[in-house]
Amino acid sequence: MEYGSLYNLSFYIYQMRKIAIYHPNIDTDVIISRICETYNIDVMNKGELELPSYTYDPLRKQCYAPKLLDHLFQHDVPAVWIIKEDMFTDRMNFIFGLAIRDKGAIVSIYRLENTEIIVKEVIHEVGHYMGLGHCLNHCVMQFSNSLWEALQKPSTLCSDCKRSLGERR
Ligand SMILES: [Zn+2]
Ligand SMILES: [Zn+2]
Repeated sequence: MEYGSLYNLSFYIYQMRKIAIYHPNIDTDVIISRICETYNIDVMNKGELELPSYTYDPLRKQCYAPKLLDHLFQHDVPAVWIIKEDMFTDRMNFIFGLAIRDKGAIVSIYRLENTEIIVKEVIHEVGHYMGLGHCLNHCVMQFSNSLWEALQKPSTLCSDCKRSLGERR
């Protein structure tokens, strides 16, 4: 198969990519349109997904992110889930988000103060879902471990990340 037709075939598959989004009672119009625009994927608004009690640690008053992902993926794949509760993993006291390539992601808005920063973190985690790693450029894929770092980064992909997404098509 020559390069051109192979490219068209994989571009067609990429075009067909769809992801479900679950969220608490927040306005998701901006979030959904920014995911569509950034990754050219369809986002299906699925409304609320109930938080199972086994994912919540009452002593820490936080959810355990890996269990949330397990629960989400039993329910729907690929999917992104936005929750209001704070969350943690084994090596981090808190995290904004966690993702698994080709399966989906979870984002906590607990520490995120406005829609723009929620959009950034969702775009970042969906980037991991799409196969992107962390990036050192001025880019939404910069690692952020604090609200300050999250505020500093842009909400868009740099040209290296865009190219790398194109190669994955
Ligand atoms: Zn990340
Ligand atoms: Zn980048």
